This record gives sequence, structure tokens and C-alpha cells, in this order.
Amino acid sequence: MEFKKVTDFIHELYGGQDFVPLAVPVFIGNEKKYLNECIDTTFVSSVGKFVDRFENDMANYTGAKRAVVCVSGTNALHMSLLLVGVKRDDEVLTQALTFIATENALSYIGAYPVFLDVDRSTMGLSPDALKEWLYKNAEVRKNTRIGELDKSYDFAYLEDEFACYNKNTGRRIKACVPMHTFGHPVRIEEIAAICKEWHIELVEDAAESIGSKCKGQHTGTFGKIGALSFNGNKTITTGGGGMLLFNDEELGAYAKHITTQAKIPHRWEFRHDHIGFNYRMPNINAALGCAQLEHIDEYVASKRKVAAEYEVFFKNIPDIEFFVDSPDTYSNYWLNVVILKDKEAQQNFLQYTNDNGVMTRPIWELMNRLPMFEKCENDGLQNTIWFADRVVNIPSSVRIKV
Ligand SMILES: *Cc1c(COP(=O)(O)O)cnc(C)c1O
Repeated sequence: MEFKKVTDFIHELYGGQDFVPLAVPVFIGNEKKYLNECIDTTFVSSVGKFVDRFENDMANYTGAKRAVVCVSGTNALHMSLLLVGVKRDDEVLTQALTFIATENALSYIGAYPVFLDVDRSTMGLSPDALKEWLYKNAEVRKNTRIGELDKSYDFAYLEDEFACYNKNTGRRIKACVPMHTFGHPVRIEEIAAICKEWHIELVEDAAESIGSKCKGQHTGTFGKIGALSFNGNKTITTGGGGMLLFNDEELGAYAKHITTQAKIPHRWEFRHDHIGFNYRMPNINAALGCAQLEHIDEYVASKRKVAAEYEVFFKNIPDIEFFVDSPDTYSNYWLNVVILKDKEAQQNFLQYTNDNGVMTRPIWELMNRLPMFEKCENDGLQNTIWFADRVVNIPSSVRIKV
């Protein structure tokens, strides 16, 4: 029986564990040392050296000019959308094939998602779908929302003189948020070029793709802002946390100000010059992050090794295809993906593996099928639905002995 071959292989791959989870964190470095340092020095909260260090280390690692910590990836996305100027009643072009956080972030602002299809080669937003939808539905004209709001409530750092508008709804299309699904980079350069042409701000949901690259450049550094997540199941974890990546140092400094209550630095006075957020990551979480980041190359190498072993194995399993990254990209293989032949096979595979000590999961319920978003516009989502009926995530933890 083919499914038994698969569960036997996965048990063996992960050293004969009775139950193989999908993705668990590993702590092999300075985690305890840095956490002890926080406790010994009492710097556990919103001030401390690990916060600055984690930001600097992450900027160095990704090649971003500036990195700013956040308390979660969801907050990082929320902040990103505010900073690029998304406002109530704007539209944001994104994927239906994503985790709910992408949509929650834009909903906090009162913006509306437009769901566009993904590529079969990447599982992420398709530049072809994006281009086609824009040609049919959008036009560029003078940005009517410049200076509409009070400066101290308006988070937009810079507003473009022109903006893209949806000809059917009349709403402004302010941003585009592609997501690097399961760590596989989308065709980000093409998406960036389209966004530029149409005066749309590009924010990358790189929550799943730390360490992934496109032609050698880190995901999260192609758009105006990139958002990372360090939730417990991600490639590196801070317990919970997120990060904003910037190529514009000034915008990064502004983000730091807004995420830390917009307080004007002073030794004793409490003065604030803007509505701000308490989105700052505590020092103990940043300490964990610093220790984790020291080993990220090993983690990603281990994940890619696991993926390579899966790839070879599944070549000999009929009707189950292992999903690989596309040329010119380097995926972190955050969660490995197999494609089953149809929905019935997908359901049978989920049942068998979960009954036999191997944790597997289908893709998230598509966003356009959730009650909050079922009325939102979409482009038919052909590939998206194809994936939803076939994808199963299989165990993907880093394989390094603790
Ligand atoms: C994990 C994740 C996030 C952020 O999640 P947090 O738990 O808030 O850190 C955002 N988008 C996607 C696609 C994710 O997978």
C-alpha cells in the first residue's frame, strides 16, 4: 500500500519517532544563555540590548537597510499596510490561498481584499493573474486621498501623486500583498514591476519565507516593506513575534517610532507626536530570536536536505507529487508539500497519515470561502482551487539533534 510506504519513510526520516509533528522548534545554541542574561539583568521587557541586536542581525542577514521588531507577524503586516498608506475603503490585491493573518491585517484598517489567482509553479500570487485583472478592472488617475486625514492619525509615510482605482467599485487600490507560500518565493520581480507601473505599493508577506531567496536576494526585501513571523511553528521562533524589513532607512526609523507609542525621546518626559502602537517585541523574545538567528543557515540547510530526500522518495510513489521550488529561487522549504491526485485522494491521505502517527494538514480554507470575505471580489481562482483540493503539508521540522 502506497500510503504505508509514505508513513514508514517519514517515521524513518525523523529517527523513528512514534508521532511525527508537522514543525517543531529546535534550540541548539545560546537560547538559555541569552534568556538567563535577560533575567539576571532584569531586562525582560520593552527595553534591552537584544531588541536592537535582533534588528541589526536581521538587517545584516537579509540585506535589508533596516529591520524593526513587532510582537507578531500579524502586527507587522498591519503596520506595513498603514505605513504604505492603506486606509479605510481602499482595496488590497492579495491571495485567497494564504493564512488568515494576511486578510486580518488589512481588515483592521477597514480595507477590502481582492483575491487573485496563484501560479502553479510557486503557489503564490501570479503576476499573470495580477496583470490581467488590472487591465480589465483598473485605471491610474490622480490620487484623491492625499491629505484627506489629519496628519497625526494618518500613518502613510509618503503618498504618491497618482493612484490606481478599481473602475467597478470606484475604490482606490492601494497595495498588493503577495505571500511566499510555505517558503517558496513568488515571481516577485515581475510583481514588483507591475505594481510600479500601476502605482500600487508592494508589501511582501514573507512570514513563512525567512531565508528564502529569489536570484540570491532575500524575500521580504523586494517590496516597500516585508513582514516576517517568528511564531512557534516558523523556521525560527521568538515564542511569538514579527519583523518589518525596509530598504528605506527613513521609513524604517518612522516605523520604529510608530510601533513604540510615537514617544519623543527624552530622559524623563512623556511626550508623543503621533498616534502610536505598542507593537514592540519584549527583550526576552528578542533574546530567543538572536540565538535562533545564529543558526538559521543550519536550519535552512537541514530543511532543504529533508526536502531533497522527500523529492527522491516521492519519485517512486505514483499519484503523489512532491512540490519543488522554481528555477532562480531558493526556498527555505518551511512546510513541505505533496500534491495528491484529487480531493478524494487528499482526504484519504490525510486520514491515513493522521491515523498512523504522521501529522499532516490540508491547505488553509481559502479566504474567499470564509464568511467575512465571501462577498469580496475574486478572479475565478482556478489554480487556487486546484491546490486547495490537492495540497497536503507533511512533516518538515529541522533535523538537528538537540
Ligand atoms: C504565520 C503567518 C503570519 C503571521 O503570523 P503571526 O502568528 O501573527 O506571527 C502571517 N502570514 C502568514 C502567511 C503566516 O503563515
